[in-house]
Amino acid sequence: MTKTKHDSVHIVFLTLFAAYLILLLKITVFRKMTHGVQSVNLIPFATITEYFQFIISGNRIIGIINVFGNILAFLPFGYLTAFVFPKMRKSSRILVLTAVFSIVIEVFQFILACGSSDIDDVILNALGGVMGYWVYVAMSKLLRPKKYAIYVSALMIISLCIGFYSFNNYSYSLPSPGNLHAFAESHNDTYIGANNGAYAYETAWFLILINKWNTIPEDYKLGLTELKNGQSVDMRIYPALQEMFDAARSDGVYPIVASGYRTSETQQNIMDEKIAEYIAEGYSDKEAIVRAEACVAIPGTSEHQIGISVDINADGVNSTGEEVYEWLSHNSYKFGFIRRYPENKTKITGVINEPWHYRYVGVDAASEIYDRDICLEEYLDEPLQVASNRMLG
Ligand SMILES: [Zn+2]
Repeated sequence: MTKTKHDSVHIVFLTLFAAYLILLLKITVFRKMTHGVQSVNLIPFATITEYFQFIISGNRIIGIINVFGNILAFLPFGYLTAFVFPKMRKSSRILVLTAVFSIVIEVFQFILACGSSDIDDVILNALGGVMGYWVYVAMSKLLRPKKYAIYVSALMIISLCIGFYSFNNYSYSLPSPGNLHAFAESHNDTYIGANNGAYAYETAWFLILINKWNTIPEDYKLGLTELKNGQSVDMRIYPALQEMFDAARSDGVYPIVASGYRTSETQQNIMDEKIAEYIAEGYSDKEAIVRAEACVAIPGTSEHQIGISVDINADGVNSTGEEVYEWLSHNSYKFGFIRRYPENKTKITGVINEPWHYRYVGVDAASEIYDRDICLEEYLDEPLQVASNRMLG
């Protein structure tokens, strides 16, 4: 092999190595973590044992993803290190280097509170690194001429990176078993308990999901506060609402609560009016109901009925509706409110664009929902879907 060829091969692998490292750091350390999970496990094999319990108890995916995800993620590390640095071509050296690198990541995860720092991660990562090195050894023996090895490995590394990047996007909020309590707390959930890898949350009152598919629980307890203009809201959201309105006014925007708590009768009246409106427009009864239900919540499925949502409008004197909506869409999250039915999420929420409807979810959830441009359904589905699946499993 000529020198230039050798150089170009080296450059290809150096580039792959750099890209891989950036990706790895991005998803382990520099990721956007709003949950701020900070937990430590220094007992070797404690977490791995729990993962295997998950696999045995029927929650295979969780266990397998966590065990093999940790190994696979570091496979390219061992593999590429061997390619780039000839001096490192020894199992023991790769083992030490991977372990050290993994420890550094775990330490940063602890400092930045962006994951659980776990000795078991280091064990699995180091195993992955060594296995990556063995793949390198096998490849360099099996594949000749060398250029085949380059094609094959470039392909392999790229697909691995895509694989673990998408895996990460899909599952980064999965809690490790030893970390459930902290995780549940960081989501403002109450952690109820775990049994054989199954666990459950009780969602905080302000994260309750009310929509077409999730009706208000029959035993829901209301505690309302009446506003000056006669509207009522859940007393627990009142201070935040007040604070938000004060902030708006100090920015020269003057909102009012056009609609807060509604009884199921009020909600039914609104629905009836809307249906009548569509019928008057010439729609059939059936069509009118379908259309009305797309913009008015069916009684029992409106957040207004538990008082944690408000329709906000302008006072009509000092501000216009647009000014108020604009201000709210950029500032409400600071006070724990989200724009509940954004234009780009109508398929998920099942409700049309409502720039006036604001829902209290707490500052943490609201900030995350705002930052990630997601809706409440998306926010809750991530971990909670997993939790409910597990309870069934
Ligand atoms: Zn509303």
